[in-house]
Amino acid sequence: MKIKNYINGDFQDPQSNDWLDNYEPASGKVYGQIPNSDAEDVEEATAFAKAEFPKWSNTTLEERSRILMNIANGIESRLDTLAEAESRDNGKPLSLAKTVDIPRAASNFRFFAHAIAQFASESHESVGLKAMNFTLRKPLGVVGCISPWNLPLYLFTWKIAPAIAAGNCVIAKPSEVTPMTAYLLGEICTEAGLPPGVLNIVHGLGTTAGQAILEHPEIKAISFTGGTKTGEHIARTCAPMFKKLSLELGGKNPNLIFADCDYDKMLATTLRSSFANQGQICLCGSRIFVERSLYTSFKEDFVSRVKELVVGHPFTSATLSGREKPATFSVQQKVDLGALVSKSHLEKVEDYIHNAKAYGGTVLCGGKRVSVEGYEGGYYLEPTVIEVTTNDCKLNQEEIFGPVVTIMPFDNEEEALQLANGTKYGLSATVWTKDLDRTMRLSDSLQAGIVWVNTWMNRDLRTPFGGVKASGVGREGGFEVLRFFTEAKNVCISY
Ligand code: NAD
Repeated sequence: MKIKNYINGDFQDPQSNDWLDNYEPASGKVYGQIPNSDAEDVEEATAFAKAEFPKWSNTTLEERSRILMNIANGIESRLDTLAEAESRDNGKPLSLAKTVDIPRAASNFRFFAHAIAQFASESHESVGLKAMNFTLRKPLGVVGCISPWNLPLYLFTWKIAPAIAAGNCVIAKPSEVTPMTAYLLGEICTEAGLPPGVLNIVHGLGTTAGQAILEHPEIKAISFTGGTKTGEHIARTCAPMFKKLSLELGGKNPNLIFADCDYDKMLATTLRSSFANQGQICLCGSRIFVERSLYTSFKEDFVSRVKELVVGHPFTSATLSGREKPATFSVQQKVDLGALVSKSHLEKVEDYIHNAKAYGGTVLCGGKRVSVEGYEGGYYLEPTVIEVTTNDCKLNQEEIFGPVVTIMPFDNEEEALQLANGTKYGLSATVWTKDLDRTMRLSDSLQAGIVWVNTWMNRDLRTPFGGVKASGVGREGGFEVLRFFTEAKNVCISY
């Protein structure tokens, strides 16, 4: 199957007619091609977006809201198709795509359909000076949205929905590793009545298609989610052009477990926060710190629960019940972890496991590839728990972004805080305790954009989302992102 670019409402081949292979992680086989787009495709898309901008930015809020709602409904009505496409493209369990990724993509559009109708700007009366100020919030023009492979449609739409709700036209590039659902979104947008040119989807590599988006002088802002190294490069490229930047980058999130926690809830949630989506969620708690008095029992229970997790083909007979079976699926009833996203990513994750001793740890369980019958070429890996003795080791300092977590004990709250804050990253942190004072102290002192207490991945779309330190700059979500996608202009009237 050939994926195409979506430019000015049309599906197009890349101008170079050059194509890249698209791999199915569950089998390791090529199952389609995607455009290897370059600066010419970005140029064409930007010209259409720029031409459409005056009209779209003057489209009423009610009409924008109506179209966004149509897109949300279009996504929901294709739940099964989109979930299967996402799971096949990414390797994630179909059950996860069906319950998390695709419903959340619909929620992103629905949420910003409502939010734009409630978004307001400020006025300031200059008392005693006979002047009145009001602030206009103007859309920026053409903006670039670049997203990663781990939550493909979920994160792609998390940027696009607020950008177009605020009146911008968009050049969007999904990850070249997982392009399929972004491709399917084009058709949904057309059906929903989104005018041609408002959203343009250009597929291809970061270093060519992505780079062309960064460098295009008519693209006024870049909203990026991806790795910290790429974020550095984007900042270096875009800062001299004075583009607005929102960078959502990597993490090495701490999970602080205190002896007074609700043990069963903590254990069940920690399994999820460690291995959901094969550990490939930027918010996964990859460094687990446990109060010493609980450490031995936690280690025993956690390892035994991890050993029970089932690794297998992402499609199971249970998740496909009642539907036509696709070409590849397995007959397992349950699967907890599917395949990692690519061969190169699998090898990167394996390097940390194979060198665990040298990198400062001891593997307690997992760490081996899994051979799934009929899909021996797939990128399957056992969930892995590594015990470390110091937070300064490579295993605790570098983002692995796979089904690998480390565990180590701590003696008191002060040490726990030091360990949690002891990395260059600062995306999220999770705390397990029933002590309210401790909750308040840690919430105040943890260096993270998001702190979860006795929960994980609990998301209210109105809240600010983003990281500190090397985890990024700027916030997505709610009105924060509508502020990012608009420019404030103050008008002062003297009377
Ligand atoms: P990546 O940085 O390799 O790629 C992300 C996107 O950037 C892709 O679309 C890629 O093609 C593009 N890109 C790469 N080089 C580019 C360039 N020179 N110019 C423009 N675009 C370029 O990241 P990835 O491997 O796809 O994703 C994994 C990373 O994303 C992890 O580090 C993870 O923590 C992070 N992530 C962060 C969040 C968050 O909200 N903070 C969410 C999900 C993933």
